[in-house]
Amino acid sequence: MNPKDQQDIVRPAKWWEALPRPVYSKLKKVESSQPWFEVYKIEPEVYVFYEPGQFEEAISYLVLGEEKAALIDTGCGIGNIKRLAEEFTELPVMVVNTHSHNDHIAQNYLFKEVAIFDAPNSREAARRGCTKEEMAHLIAPELVWKPFPKEFDPKNYFVPPFKVTRWLKEGDVIDLGGRELEVFHTPGHSPDSICLLDADAKLFWTGDMFYTGAIYTYLPGGDIDTFIKSYRKMLEISGRFDKLMPSHNEPWIEKEVLKNVLKAVEEIKEGKGRYVEGVEGGIKIRRYNYDRFSIITKA
Ligand SMILES: [Zn+2]
Repeated sequence: MNPKDQQDIVRPAKWWEALPRPVYSKLKKVESSQPWFEVYKIEPEVYVFYEPGQFEEAISYLVLGEEKAALIDTGCGIGNIKRLAEEFTELPVMVVNTHSHNDHIAQNYLFKEVAIFDAPNSREAARRGCTKEEMAHLIAPELVWKPFPKEFDPKNYFVPPFKVTRWLKEGDVIDLGGRELEVFHTPGHSPDSICLLDADAKLFWTGDMFYTGAIYTYLPGGDIDTFIKSYRKMLEISGRFDKLMPSHNEPWIEKEVLKNVLKAVEEIKEGKGRYVEGVEGGIKIRRYNYDRFSIITKA
């Protein structure tokens, strides 16, 4: 397999031609001052900040309480997400990260309050940020199809260190005033991955544990056994939510798909399932394709 074919295991050529994804036609689109983001509103008082111009199609969420707002992740750091959040609320905004990968924490440094799960890898991300070299792959020409915002300087693209004001633990509750987010530790994609539950609104933020796309268990700190354990935990509480709010591709996904992911991963573990093999970042990987998602594991 030549290197180009191998790359296509993770990223189809001209991936943007498949956009827009179907769910967006059902959501209420809201105007904003930054064309880099698409903004959608989901009731009650949840804003979707979607970055369709870059391959990760990162989604951050602004969740409004009565006293405070939570910004779930800060995206790739290409548009200005702080200014965007301020267009939709006057409340103080606290960042709550689903995990510390670079496409989720890029603008944490702009915020006074940041909450993230307490794990060695999140502590390291906060202490050192990400270098230009570590960020460069996100803005490779084949990964970006929309024009960058004027104020974005691709030559100076890095993640500054950030200050964490709250280290989250399993079972913590983030109180926004009249609205609570419960923290569930769900490692498997990353050691510091969490899901967040708003039981009143019946919404469940899955971070990178679930999205409609290629779900990675092969990154450093990721692990398929841990992933399965976390999925069982997510399914155990699935009576308390209706919709999934993932950190990539599409929001507002019916929860039933979680069962299919668990079934798929269990089969993969048993050596079943059809896959294509390739290499990404020097790691030999396998991609298993299913209807709404794919699973990528170490070979
Ligand atoms: Zn991610």
